[in-house]
Amino acid sequence: MSEQTASITPMPAGSALEPTASAEERWGLFQHPLHSAEDYINSLRGRGLKVYLFGEQVEEPVDHPMIRPSINALAASYQLAEDDPELATAESPYTGTRVNRFLHIPTSPEDLVNKNQMQRRMGQLTGTCFQRCAGLDCISVMHSLTYDIDQAHGTEYHSRFLKLLEGLQRHNLIIAAGMTDPKGDRSKAPHEQADQDMFMRVVDRDEKGLYVSGAKAHMTGGLNSHWVMVMPTMRLSEADRDYAVIGAVPLQTPGLTFIYGRQSCDTRAMEGGEIDQGNARYSGQEVLVVFDRVFIPWEHVFMDGEWEFASVLVERFTDYHRASYVCKTGLGDVMVGAAATIAEYNGVESASHIKDKLVEMVHLNETIFSSGIASSHQAYPLPSGAWINDGMLSNVCKHNVTRFPYEISRLAQDLAGGLMVTLPSEKDFEASNTSELLERFFKGRDDIPTEDRVRILRLIENMTLGRNAVGYLTESLHGAGSPQAQRIQILRNMDVDAKKRHARKLAGIEVIATDADAS
Ligand code: SF4
Ligand code: FE
Repeated sequence: MSEQTASITPMPAGSALEPTASAEERWGLFQHPLHSAEDYINSLRGRGLKVYLFGEQVEEPVDHPMIRPSINALAASYQLAEDDPELATAESPYTGTRVNRFLHIPTSPEDLVNKNQMQRRMGQLTGTCFQRCAGLDCISVMHSLTYDIDQAHGTEYHSRFLKLLEGLQRHNLIIAAGMTDPKGDRSKAPHEQADQDMFMRVVDRDEKGLYVSGAKAHMTGGLNSHWVMVMPTMRLSEADRDYAVIGAVPLQTPGLTFIYGRQSCDTRAMEGGEIDQGNARYSGQEVLVVFDRVFIPWEHVFMDGEWEFASVLVERFTDYHRASYVCKTGLGDVMVGAAATIAEYNGVESASHIKDKLVEMVHLNETIFSSGIASSHQAYPLPSGAWINDGMLSNVCKHNVTRFPYEISRLAQDLAGGLMVTLPSEKDFEASNTSELLERFFKGRDDIPTEDRVRILRLIENMTLGRNAVGYLTESLHGAGSPQAQRIQILRNMDVDAKKRHARKLAGIEVIATDADAS
């Protein structure tokens, strides 16, 4: 047990917190550091969270067949830390030990490069969104943001944050990022909304802490985490001061309601069997999390009214997070592998147009990776000592991600053929009156079992049309900001004037004093 919690009387597992439980009582929920994927899965049991799915309250999310694959994906981050500590852990200056890299604040370009490599590996292992990066990017931002707010306002957010971070690292916990507010009428500022809870806001304060109400939409891994950090979703003005709030709460905090977001073909997980799921083991997760007068003790408040820092927060978060989308190159590796495998099973792998399509897929996938990894190599330090990705290149990375996985998927579907979407069900392959016929007529190459051919087709279906198309395609489009958000950032930073000077100088149009600056 950590020094921080050594003096705390542990609460029985699953016991609810009092609404205004202190910071210490909140840490008391976490009695033992998590050492393994199994520890992690067990740590989610018996939490008594208010979770709704299909209009009903879910008794135990961990055992729900539709939810479990998303938990497995996060568990893989614990497993990878055991299997490849060089890649998936890092030395923490706060604990003096190696900690999961998903909890490590980057303090060099190498840290960010290693993070990207770990993300690609996680994508290869799970074929889905493994849900941990928004939380990592959130704590990375909080390191520098709390430092900068303290410098400007004489607050003590940075030391509070470091305490939280140390606790997360010592206990090996997952923190989710609660960023996206429902936003209501997009033409109106938070304080102008008809429903004041369209953006999360402070509704009350007392000597012990503050109370927030509102909701966070499509929160990645929101239900699979131990803590959630809520923060503003966009730049704010002085009139929005009460919306300028950042704080962290454990998921057991009273006042939280989770409504599970469904995914394409998700009920296949409830049909029994695994082949039709394509990737039965892993999936992503998004939830709507509603906050109803949720209390946050001052020790876990990291912004309260410093509205001018909301835009800094958003910009830094996106600079980190848009490079995190190299995660999709791991999924791209799986897509290329699946497409090459089905070509092989169909006996056409040596056709030149097949090879050319695979080359195109790899080219697109590596183009995504190059922009992301370049943004990490071009990282720069912030005053707190944390390093951050180059913003232009991370925006280019995410913008590539809004397009290339669609083309990669189109090529994978091209190689798969129409059978991918006309295959009978797993049950028909098992049923006595149809199995022989299906085995016979869906055979590809003689030496390949029909079942293997069906399995790989179902995987391509899963990633391009089914459950993990959420993670590979639509999340690629909208996650970390929709395409236009990246174009706005590219427009802001593209410095066309410098480029014009280069062109004019070479064309002999004019010689201007600042030419030297533009070199
Ligand atoms: Fe991580 Fe990618 Fe999922 Fe975002 S979409 S949480 S970057 S795996
Ligand atoms: Fe995401």
